[in-house]
Amino acid sequence: MKPSESVIYLDYNATTPVDERVLETMLPFLREKFGNAASRTHAYGWEAERAVDEGRRQVARLIGARPAEIVWTSGATESTNLALKGLVEGRSSRRNRIVSVSTEHKATIDTLKHLGKLGLEVLTLPVGEDGLLDLDRLREAVDDQTLVVSVMQVNNETGVIQDVAAIGAICRERGAFFHCDAAQSFGKLPIDVEAMKIDLMSFSGHKIYAPKGVGALYVRSRDPKPRIVEQINGGGHEGGRRSGTLAVPLIVALGAAAELAGKEMANEDQRIHALRDRLLDGLRARLPELEVNGSMTRRIANNLNVSVPGIESEALLMALPRLAISTGSACNSTEVSASYVLRAMGLTEKRGLAALRFGIGRYSHESEIDEAVSMVAEAVAALRAVNRRN
Ligand SMILES: *Cc1c(COP(=O)(O)O)cnc(C)c1O
Repeated sequence: MKPSESVIYLDYNATTPVDERVLETMLPFLREKFGNAASRTHAYGWEAERAVDEGRRQVARLIGARPAEIVWTSGATESTNLALKGLVEGRSSRRNRIVSVSTEHKATIDTLKHLGKLGLEVLTLPVGEDGLLDLDRLREAVDDQTLVVSVMQVNNETGVIQDVAAIGAICRERGAFFHCDAAQSFGKLPIDVEAMKIDLMSFSGHKIYAPKGVGALYVRSRDPKPRIVEQINGGGHEGGRRSGTLAVPLIVALGAAAELAGKEMANEDQRIHALRDRLLDGLRARLPELEVNGSMTRRIANNLNVSVPGIESEALLMALPRLAISTGSACNSTEVSASYVLRAMGLTEKRGLAALRFGIGRYSHESEIDEAVSMVAEAVAALRAVNRRN
């Protein structure tokens, strides 16, 4: 489904529309093919089970995993909860330390906060101004008491890409498991769980043109094999790793979306990269004082995070109802504060409050990029005129 024409959608890091081809693939499973994949006694069940198995193959293929290593969940948040809590509950050794990074998604941060309350030692490493984790600090932090290291591949606010293969190598060397949140990279960057030494990996459907409410967790089945205890009990589905009747239509959709993403990855990456360059060049031409937040070289093609000095992005977006982008700041009831991700990178509160996140995607076009540039530049000029008068 293309986003509507009246509002320019450039928030693909927040969510994506469902691809028409994905929707077509899942519809029969909402209509006549409605069987329960756990029904072993008739054709409806067998048909559903076959579809789920195909989805498993499609997701596994995209990351170099085996189908049996894929566990269906409701999304990357649940996958991350299952990976980290399941691992802690299932550990046989005395390893009590979890190492992570200050710029992780809340799915990880809040799960680790919870585990910290249960007595786990949670070590959160800082990042540099470029958003990158210092691998020497990681080497120091991961000791023989470390159960798991959790680092995302691509940050959802800045698009910064961590060196997952290097992190995996450090973990494997120290006997710690490696969980990677791949919600922003799955289907956009090549992933090979074997080469990258990843033991657990979280995915989300709605970041890759499948519906919301479905995701997956990769759980390595070869040695070293993480033992995860299921966090949702009730029937022992998914090999005892996650109970509950499988969401067959959503799983079919995620499988189809993964296959499409794999087929189109190289072309899409190039096309979207060119659009991002056009966006940055266009913005810089109109707003030369623009500052880019996070590494520009180690960044996924579809993301641009910039600050316009002297501007509050909340106010700016209020003036731009026809542009769907995000500020990255967090509102509580009374105050707006800069995003914790940008603050963790050492950016000032002021620069954080001026941040704009653009996410480019499958349906983005040059004309939309150009229009977005004009809209932002004009709104900045208008805001500055108001600020001068006050
Ligand atoms: C979107 C996202 C999540 C959460 O995924 P859901 O499927 O919405 O639960 C986790 N991590 C990152 C990096 C994300 O971008």
